[in-house]
Amino acid sequence: MIIDQLEKLWTSLLEFSSTFITPEWGDLVNLLPIFLLVGVVGPIVTLVVLAWFVYVVRQPRSKARFAAARRPAPLDAEGRPTYPAGEPYSPSERMVYEPGATRSDSGADLLVACPKCGLVRGAVLDTCGNCGLSFTIKPTTRSIRPAGPPPGGAAAA
Ligand SMILES: [Zn+2]
Repeated sequence: MIIDQLEKLWTSLLEFSSTFITPEWGDLVNLLPIFLLVGVVGPIVTLVVLAWFVYVVRQPRSKARFAAARRPAPLDAEGRPTYPAGEPYSPSERMVYEPGATRSDSGADLLVACPKCGLVRGAVLDTCGNCGLSFTIKPTTRSIRPAGPPPGGAAAA
């Protein structure tokens, strides 16, 4: 049997090595599964901890990015829901939706109060029918839209 021969070879190797290596070699062999466990589970645990750490470190950024995420409408002193101007909301769900949302989870049209005059209109409309203030708060376009005048504006003036 090859395995028997291997075991004999292993034993003889152990005996040979025990002549000049520490006599606790046998104990070390018994500890091999533990070393194996540490060698295999250790890196996995390290990776998990690292991933967790990266997740925790990055979390504040994502929280800041979605600061105006969907949330229950805050209640005033009399327990009535209040809806911040310029943010879409669903009065039936008493939920304030993320900027750019026009429909609730149930498919109902969201409302939005004009930040300038306070007129409530459908969130799908981007121009106020009362004061004419136009605003579309969409997270994907808000940061990349240039703040300066549109090209050609100087020529028109
Ligand atoms: Zn308005």
